[in-house]
Amino acid sequence: MPGFERFGEEEKKEVNDVLETGILMRYGFDGPRKGIWKAKELEAAIAGKLSVKHVQLVSSGTAALSTAMAALGIGAGDEVIMPCFTFVASFEAMLFSGATPVLVDIDDTLTLDPKAVEAAITPRTKAVMPVHMCGGMADLDALQAICKKHGLLLLEDACQAIGASYKGKYLGTIGDAGTFSFDFVKTVTCAEGGAIMTNNTDVYTKCDGFSDHGHDHLGVDRGADLHPFIGYNFRISELHAAVGLAQWRKLDEFLAIQRATKKTFSEAIAGIPGISFRRFPDPAGDSATFLEIFLPSLEAAQKTAAAMKAAGLPAFHYYDNNWHYLRNWHHLKTAATLSPLPPALKASLEAYQSKTFPQSDALIGRCVCMPINLSWTPGDINTKAAALRKAIESSL
Ligand SMILES: *Cc1c(COP(=O)(O)O)cnc(C)c1O
Repeated sequence: MPGFERFGEEEKKEVNDVLETGILMRYGFDGPRKGIWKAKELEAAIAGKLSVKHVQLVSSGTAALSTAMAALGIGAGDEVIMPCFTFVASFEAMLFSGATPVLVDIDDTLTLDPKAVEAAITPRTKAVMPVHMCGGMADLDALQAICKKHGLLLLEDACQAIGASYKGKYLGTIGDAGTFSFDFVKTVTCAEGGAIMTNNTDVYTKCDGFSDHGHDHLGVDRGADLHPFIGYNFRISELHAAVGLAQWRKLDEFLAIQRATKKTFSEAIAGIPGISFRRFPDPAGDSATFLEIFLPSLEAAQKTAAAMKAAGLPAFHYYDNNWHYLRNWHHLKTAATLSPLPPALKASLEAYQSKTFPQSDALIGRCVCMPINLSWTPGDINTKAAALRKAIESSL
């Protein structure tokens, strides 16, 4: 990751197909578009590759989550259990739907701790939303069992896990619905874009309408469409879909590069006493976009991240980061919305000012994540692997 590192002639060709016709919109204009339907083609390509019945492209991963929640009927008064380690978009989409995010601990998979999920269930719980962070997977067997036992929906935020799988099934296709992001720094990019995957035709039909003003797409032309429900505009453009189509065809190549690179780095540091790696419920399914290392202490992790940066290696220490971990989500904890929230929802957010997450703090505090770049040459990788080993050893 990210896919933009491999932007080339293939992407330009697909975009040019669209520019030739001048039909930049994904719907309608059947004659002038001369058979060019990039969004439809990308949806079919994703569905084929992932063996999922339906794919709906939208304008972003955040829009994909909002659309999926609407289509699943998640809204006001509903609680959705999600991890306290994710990108801010996960709770943004939930607040947009009117639902209440219930943040719980992660475990050493860096995703939802099934025990914490079970403990957070109330009569108002409607869904569980695992976030497959950094290209790896949540324990989906355990989460599916919990959802089944309590009659809950399972919505997978797979925005960071394109191409990753769990026991032979692609992430994002296992729950009632799943989402991808194709923003500029994701494994596959459209510049901006997202997708909802589902095997449920009713959920898909709702996603299709919701992301295009509620139009039912059944009229003889767009003006004749009816509106069985109210929607929004979360459409993707043909230009974005065209970029994504070329990128999607490179996914297996991206995954192979990432997996080989990650293996070299992992082997270079495996013997260092005191360190350990993230646990993957299905190691073969890791998309290998990141290498996640647990150091023995918060201080050792802070030192390692600083030493890595000094050596020219990319490093994330999420404990001190403002985007991905509850500790620094002050805007969420103060319910800093521009317009008023329903009072109960506002109070539920402000409650996070006094809630503590010692289990997650201990894990995130000790974890350093190194993104795996697609553009590194074999020479770079060997030099960087040696530098990583040195950075860790100097911090212990
Ligand atoms: C990137 C991301 C999103 C949102 O995607 P955008 O396309 O940037 O809106 C949602 N969830 C997670 C975990 C992400 O990493």
